[in-house]
Amino acid sequence: MSITAQREAELLAKVPTGLLINGEWRDASDGGTFDVLDPATGEKLLTLASATSEDAMAALDAADAVQAEWALTAPRERAEILRRAFDLVTERKDDFALLMSLEMGKPLAEAYGEVTYGAEFLRWFSEETVRHYGRYITTPEGKNKVLVQHKPVGPCLLITPWNFPLAMATRKVGPAVAAGCTMVLKPAKLTPLTSQLFAATMMEAGLPAGVLNVVSGASASKISGPLMQDDRLRKVSFTGSTPVGKQLMKDAADKVLRTSMELGGNAPFIVFEDADLDAAVEGAMAAKMRNMGEACTAANRFLVHQDVAEEFTAKFAAAMKALKPGRGTEADSTVGPLVEEKARDEVHALVEAAVASGATALVGGAPVEGPGYFYQPTVLVNVANDAQILGQEIFGPVAPVTTFTSEEHAIKLANASEYGLASYIYSKDFSRLFRVAEQIEFGLVGFNAGVISNAAAPFGGVKQSGLGREGGAEGLAEYTTVQYIGIADP
Ligand code: NAD
Repeated sequence: MSITAQREAELLAKVPTGLLINGEWRDASDGGTFDVLDPATGEKLLTLASATSEDAMAALDAADAVQAEWALTAPRERAEILRRAFDLVTERKDDFALLMSLEMGKPLAEAYGEVTYGAEFLRWFSEETVRHYGRYITTPEGKNKVLVQHKPVGPCLLITPWNFPLAMATRKVGPAVAAGCTMVLKPAKLTPLTSQLFAATMMEAGLPAGVLNVVSGASASKISGPLMQDDRLRKVSFTGSTPVGKQLMKDAADKVLRTSMELGGNAPFIVFEDADLDAAVEGAMAAKMRNMGEACTAANRFLVHQDVAEEFTAKFAAAMKALKPGRGTEADSTVGPLVEEKARDEVHALVEAAVASGATALVGGAPVEGPGYFYQPTVLVNVANDAQILGQEIFGPVAPVTTFTSEEHAIKLANASEYGLASYIYSKDFSRLFRVAEQIEFGLVGFNAGVISNAAAPFGGVKQSGLGREGGAEGLAEYTTVQYIGIADP
């Protein structure tokens, strides 16, 4: 056994394999299990308990039983738990980074970046916990008072995707703890290991039993279905694809649940003729290739002014060609595999359709031979404006480049999407950057920046990219309700 294999085995041995219900790790009620695979090899990493509907209900029972008491804990106490969790995750960054790389495929260097980013939600919300102000004013009429206070919304169902296994969990658990909500967390079945280890870390940080329950499982709807029909659940916070988000919104209507929906994106990356092209290429690489393109914020449509398109594309293609696909744990690997075979096949089908309708692959354009679900970093030019690849999330290392002729044209192309999550604009002219930001319909805008996610900033989309925000002060508000108390003057 090589050192690396031994290290991997030791790390996997630390991951709890059960369901976390009321502070205890248990088997599934029917003894069922599911396997978690390494996308770089297709081999099994670990077998976890697979939650049944009954287990999901037991998790909600536990969350509901402690909700009232948890809501009354001192904000400082909740803040300190989050701060300890931040310290523990940070101390254990090697474990969290390696675990994410193993189950999700991302290169280790990127996984370390996610540990920093993901842990920051714990620290940010630890600091927000004690500064969540209400208000007390005299009415406009001059008599009587208006008192507004925030209360935890109640037990929450948190559903996370596979692409950022740590950050998607901390972005929900952090504010829920800060607000005083109890939780049932359902991680994605492809990458639940990080959530399992993170939940164990939260318990070690002092979270009382029942506050956070984790029900990993092979069947998402078996878990979420009955929970969403139960009057005790008060909120669902979902990060994932738009079709599943729409279904959950319909389900949430029955009990008028609070919802936060972080859904898909189709980010435009706009390069104006006055942009610093080297900076734009650097930003393009980050915006496209972070997480192998498997990010809701991934640049999906490169819109480049026709005067600089040739130069930008040549530099961008050279940078893409220099990338090295490989298992995330290999020191020289800069692009990991896609998460599963189906994901790779879908990306390739989009590329083939684009090429069939006239596009040219300057680099890449095919899966990488051999084991694992690798896809060549790809740059496509001459892509028709109505090509399917421009209309939907690619979720892979493929960059279609198209051109525009004027600012108005760029804005029109950027807005021609039902999504409105991330967008990127490159120009040296700040008046133009603000002018364009005013007119584009996106929740997140990067000015000369290819990565803008930050725990202190409100993350979220408009249009079919979702509802609500995670991070920033807005992130905490998602987990609270407002209570108004009218006070008669004596
Ligand atoms: P997905 O919608 O397939 O799954 C997301 C989660 O929902 C998983 O935990 C899954 O098990 C669960 N799920 C699936 N079907 C369900 C159902 N019927 N009922 C309840 N839960 C169900 O998405 P994915 O493939 O895991 O993630 C990729 C998607 O997530 C992309 O569309 C991406 O853009 C989006 N995403 C959005 C953000 C954001 O903040 N806006 C962040 C990351 C990913």
